[in-house]
Amino acid sequence: MSEELLLPFAYVFAGLLGAILGSFYYATATRVSYFFYSAARKSYPRKRDRFRALIFKPSFCMECGAPISRVYLIPVFGYAFSRARCAECGTRISPKHLVAEIYLAILLPTLLYFGRSWPEALLMTLFAGQLYVSIVTDTRHMILDHENTAFLFLWAAILTAIADGTTARLIGGGGTLVIFGALYWISRLTGRTMMGFGDVPLSAAVGLFFGFPTLLIVFVAAACGSIFYSLVIQGSRNAPAPFGASLGFATLTAIPLQIVAQWAGFLQF
Ligand SMILES: [Zn+2]
Repeated sequence: MSEELLLPFAYVFAGLLGAILGSFYYATATRVSYFFYSAARKSYPRKRDRFRALIFKPSFCMECGAPISRVYLIPVFGYAFSRARCAECGTRISPKHLVAEIYLAILLPTLLYFGRSWPEALLMTLFAGQLYVSIVTDTRHMILDHENTAFLFLWAAILTAIADGTTARLIGGGGTLVIFGALYWISRLTGRTMMGFGDVPLSAAVGLFFGFPTLLIVFVAAACGSIFYSLVIQGSRNAPAPFGASLGFATLTAIPLQIVAQWAGFLQF
């Protein structure tokens, strides 16, 4: 088959792969939250047992513990088949599962179309999926998982090595680490809890991913999101806002916009 005939199949495949990755990462996010940070972690006192449960325990309803039928685990369609309820206890399954699956199912083919290569599109999709874990743990427990942040660094580092904009990315990652590290240190010294320690490496990973100066737009958007959350949703200037989650949402919004801006020639790398 000629390359032109193969192309539509590549996008269909990218969409399917994106849906699978979306399903995998959202499930991982809720499982990390459940096994490591919820009350259920007491059933797994040792960290080793939590990791084992995270990886090997088959999918189950987090309300009643009933195993989930394989049919319902099919990305996107499983949500419809199950009628968004646990077959055992009837607990409603959050539409966030569906949104998370659809987002990556659209993102990967989009990155492939507007971007430059399969490896680049795939790495950016993995980075986006990994952020699901940051968003879920930060909104539920005000915690950013360090192991998850290490994966974010890994994908951003490979991207820095193989994609364009290596210098801009290194300046972005290094600069963010220094500035956020200093901010964290000052906030500790002055006793004002502006940010958690987990925000520092997460921000540096995002800085490395976008590079300088694109990262500035993303951080301003994340800060605005955080302030909006405190003032409007929580109703107080002093209400704690999960900055990591805000940064996660800003990044998920910025990734497709950045790739289209590069494609259109508005951004250099
Ligand atoms: Zn159930």
